[in-house]
Amino acid sequence: MTVRTALSRHAGTLLVVATLAFSGVAEAAGNPLVVYSARKYQLVEQLFQEYGRERGIEVKSVTDDGAPLIQRLMAEGAQSPADVFITVDAGDLWRATEAGLLQPVRSPMLEAAIPAHLRDPDGQWFGLAVRARTIAYSTARVKPAELSTYAALGDPRWKGRLCLRSGKAVYNQSLVAMFINDMGEQATERMVGAWIANLAAEPFSNDTLMLKAIAAGQCDVGITNSYYLGKLQHEQADLPVQIFWADQAGKGTHVNISGGGVTKHAKNREEAVRFLEWLASPAIQQRLAAVNFEFPANAGVDPLPEVKAWGPFKPNEVNVGLIGKAQPAAVMLIDRAGWR
Ligand code: FE
Repeated sequence: MTVRTALSRHAGTLLVVATLAFSGVAEAAGNPLVVYSARKYQLVEQLFQEYGRERGIEVKSVTDDGAPLIQRLMAEGAQSPADVFITVDAGDLWRATEAGLLQPVRSPMLEAAIPAHLRDPDGQWFGLAVRARTIAYSTARVKPAELSTYAALGDPRWKGRLCLRSGKAVYNQSLVAMFINDMGEQATERMVGAWIANLAAEPFSNDTLMLKAIAAGQCDVGITNSYYLGKLQHEQADLPVQIFWADQAGKGTHVNISGGGVTKHAKNREEAVRFLEWLASPAIQQRLAAVNFEFPANAGVDPLPEVKAWGPFKPNEVNVGLIGKAQPAAVMLIDRAGWR
């Protein structure tokens, strides 16, 4: 060993000691935090890095869709470097829980910040941002008084006027799963069948294309995640498409979450919990939701002004984890109904 190496090693030891003494960092100091994330926004990645700088640790993230990240966690098993898993659909969190890929977390902070229907009862995952999947309509050709429920989009008056995203999209599978929970498979299948009979066009590959079809006059109503409309309205203030809160006289509008949990084999568990708590804290909640025009999961935090402008709504408060449980049945139902 050269003198130089010995010196730098010594300096490294001093640095660790100093960190321990002044910021209370325990064994986590120096250990990176590894995040497997299905959130693909650069600004979210920047938030992760900001956390790392605040804590004096490296945050490494691996980004992919939810399903491949789950497969990766399963394949890696106890060798997985992941500490935190973040998804954009409650169903993926539920599947990860079922596969034993997450572990329970008890955190008074998280339990106080995140409403019970947006987190796992055992603390295996927590919602961090909320999106509503609800009705979008043409302000040129539809009056809000004509709208009420998701099921009513199957009424004859919407014949040839309804647009939908593909039934293969996980967001639609989650929506159908919610209805299977709420009203059973038969009634849900009738409703979906009536929607398909009313379609104005082949299902779209994403919500944005569907919203643009409403704006262009190809159809008059559709079902979208709230943030896709938020983004389009932000780009074009006079977009002739508006949001309608479905099922307000019934169980409430379907909501889904982007959320996360601590992995079963986390090497840096304490830091992982602290990271989730940081993401749930008011200042970060505001920024995390704003990245994607979402609603903060922390009920004490306001969304962006343009999101707030849509007005308050009653969400369906069934636990979002139940969505995951009914997703396999939803996938088969969608197939039977011919929702391509
Ligand atoms: Fe999305």
